[in-house]
Amino acid sequence: MMKRKKIVAGNWKMNHSYHEALAVFAQLLEHKEEFPANAEVIICPPALYLREFAKKAGNHVALGAQNCHFEVEGAFTGEISAEMIKSVGARYCILGHSERRSMFAETDEIVSRKLRHALTVSLNVILCCGESLEVREDDNHFAWVQQQLNIALDGLSPEQMQKVVIAYEPVWAIGTGLTASRDQAQEMHAFIRRYIAERFNEETANTTRILYGGSCNAENAPLLFSCPDVDGGLIGGASLKLSTFLPIILAAR
Ligand code: PEP
Repeated sequence: MMKRKKIVAGNWKMNHSYHEALAVFAQLLEHKEEFPANAEVIICPPALYLREFAKKAGNHVALGAQNCHFEVEGAFTGEISAEMIKSVGARYCILGHSERRSMFAETDEIVSRKLRHALTVSLNVILCCGESLEVREDDNHFAWVQQQLNIALDGLSPEQMQKVVIAYEPVWAIGTGLTASRDQAQEMHAFIRRYIAERFNEETANTTRILYGGSCNAENAPLLFSCPDVDGGLIGGASLKLSTFLPIILAAR
């Protein structure tokens, strides 16, 4: 079976002034030669900064946006399109993050529209899914995630899936300091991979990267990344500083 290239993606959310962001990015690039050969490093800064980051990034770090709209252009005040993201040199876009779902009323249907649109301009998508604590306590987490994926991936072909990375982010672990255990992460990732195999085919399941997200840090990353179905992480808080992010990158061997 082929070895999947791991991904470590930093989701900076709405953090860092422009100059702070440039400084952290420059520090990260100083360590690019240490990045594991089998890891792809992605930074998703505030979209305003993407152009400047793209000019500096070279081949060692890929850039992503944190959201996009599903229309090409028009009267959508405050929104940015997938075309715009692509045109400034970013290659990825996070979609369906739980903060977008809970604070900005993004439904699975909206996520699906965004995803299909992003793929038409060849943006790679990091599609987030994951259950709340309530859903897990009710033992509905597998059905929940399956439903999110069913809708988000509606109508996609196996070829289109090559541009989709899945991030399993249990909502109860995001920014809380709680992390899924190794077993909880592995069983959900294996479940998602089986789902992809049934929905698309074995080859697509074997090649799709499934990232873990939720209070991932230097201490827990080596254990989580050693799960056979965990292909790296989507990192929030710990991606904001080199001292906390670099060890996570180095754990993706
Ligand atoms: C995230 O928001 O995608 C995330 C994983 O955040 P944190 O690492 O801070 O839990």
